[in-house]
Amino acid sequence: MEILRKSRREAQTAVLDDYPKTCASFSWDEAREWLDGLPDGGGLNIAHEAVDRHAFGETGERTAIHWLGKAGARREISYRELAALSSRFANVLDDLGVTHGAGVFLLAGRIPELYLAALGALKHGAVVTPLFSAFGPEPIATRMTLGEARVLVTTTSLYRRKVAAIRDQLPCLEHVLVVRDDDLEALPEGTQELGPLLDSASPDYVIPATDPEQPALLHFTSGTTGKPKGAVHVHQAVVAHHATARFALDLRAGDVFWCTADPGWVTGTSYGIIAPLSLGATLVIDEAEFDAERWYQILESEAVSVWYTAPTAVRMMMKGGSENARSRTYPSLRFIASVGEPLNPQAVHWGVEAFGLPIHDNWWQTETGGIMIANFASMAIRPGAMGKPLPGIEAAVLRRLPDGSVEPVDHHDDEGELALRVGWPSMFRGYLHEEARYRRCFVDDWYLTGDLARRDLDGYFWFVGRADDMIKSAGHLIGPFEVESALMEHPAVAEVGVIGKPDPMIGEIVKAFVSLKPGHEPSESLRRELLGFARQRLGPAVAPKEIDIQPSLPRTRSGKIMRRLLKARELGLPEGDTSTLETIR
Ligand code: ATP
Ligand code: MG
Repeated sequence: MEILRKSRREAQTAVLDDYPKTCASFSWDEAREWLDGLPDGGGLNIAHEAVDRHAFGETGERTAIHWLGKAGARREISYRELAALSSRFANVLDDLGVTHGAGVFLLAGRIPELYLAALGALKHGAVVTPLFSAFGPEPIATRMTLGEARVLVTTTSLYRRKVAAIRDQLPCLEHVLVVRDDDLEALPEGTQELGPLLDSASPDYVIPATDPEQPALLHFTSGTTGKPKGAVHVHQAVVAHHATARFALDLRAGDVFWCTADPGWVTGTSYGIIAPLSLGATLVIDEAEFDAERWYQILESEAVSVWYTAPTAVRMMMKGGSENARSRTYPSLRFIASVGEPLNPQAVHWGVEAFGLPIHDNWWQTETGGIMIANFASMAIRPGAMGKPLPGIEAAVLRRLPDGSVEPVDHHDDEGELALRVGWPSMFRGYLHEEARYRRCFVDDWYLTGDLARRDLDGYFWFVGRADDMIKSAGHLIGPFEVESALMEHPAVAEVGVIGKPDPMIGEIVKAFVSLKPGHEPSESLRRELLGFARQRLGPAVAPKEIDIQPSLPRTRSGKIMRRLLKARELGLPEGDTSTLETIR
């Protein structure tokens, strides 16, 4: 364990030296003071905190965005330039007569225009929704309708392929601003080219006084457990983005930070845009899709110091072994963190093998807007645990009583629903058009997360599973993560998804779906070996009774294994909402 405590360089900020003390003395008001409200004292605007306040003097010349194009192009944008570009975009919205509070949707790959438009729209007081550019027309139409999109920023080819045909389903949509990415001379009908509009707009924009409670972002959840929900976030969320990146990611001014998430998922906005800029870091943005070799190269050659990624990417890198990672050196790399799914203990150790650094798991949700529980820089990692609540966050493991109230579980190690005491700045303020559902998330002053967890004696939280995914087998309650992690330890296994399959005798049996690492072929003998392997580690009550080896497992675009889809397919039931399903690589 000791090795996991030590980073190659001391990864500690003064504020974290003594975690319990920090927690006791920390307040969100204090975090707010780290930021710098508008000069006129009029409120708090995300884009001001992220960009404009860094746009002067020496910091103004610092690289804010270091962009790596798919085909090898590079672009450096300084804080000063980013402030001007985003102001130009805010002025474009003004010139078009777009009202404050209007929905601005972004549908593009990770191109610079996506980032300047997001920041410019925030300056303008619009509500920003980035969408995955890989979404098909249907999920685009549903989300734009729900969010009453008035403006869409996209590219000419995405517009032609995905939006033109659904345009008449979007009566609210007034302006489509496109970036050219094809060779056709004529712009698609009903669109305007963004470049010339930006060029002719003023680079100066006075951000109107922004109420900290004003809606800023609308993010759709990943759709892992059902139809995606639209979570509304407000401007003061930036206080949490800023503080949590500092606490949980050990991020500091001047760091080179790479968040590999796409802004179509909340991580790619909270930590892929806002938090690092609010801290004055340099953001690496890679336009290309995942490729292990490219990623090793970026980590090395771009001198990334803090890297924030997801278990699915780590598992894909692990598939290829650690030799490829070890053929390079990462002298600048100081801290690695992961979010989105449980990080199997295997992956934490692999980080040490591959990069000489453990991977720090942290937990949060679209609804929480920012990291809530983490393995901090200054504390020993417990592989397999999500970590401890951040300063300012109170987390508990609760059980629901028949009368609808909640109470803490009896023993520290009991499982229950993970809950957070309401009141942190990036908490969602509603599910769009689903008021009743939003209300149901709260009991007394607790927000109930829908995830099951337990807390050990030292205060570390352990993810057990999503309430919907729990398996009831012969009187046992089994969390899929435990079973998945055990199977991940087998050298042939690349990914695992575990479900409960209805059984007339014992309620449900545990069934595992497994994909293999390159060099391993599915066979009956391997299947039997895996069954035996799991039984030996987990015991017969918890081990899967059935294992299916599949070429790959269904995943959301944000990289999560869709257990509900595995289950629906197994039982021959309708697949439900598959709008976020990633097409098989
Ligand atoms: P939906 O709510 O639409 O079903 P989703 O819950 O996957 O989708 P997100 O908000 O993107 O949408 O994901 C948050 C969820 O991801 C958490 O509630 C939790 O289940 C899971 N998660 C995130 N980080 C971790 C982690 N470190 N360990 C375990 N689970 C995690
Ligand atoms: Mg969720």
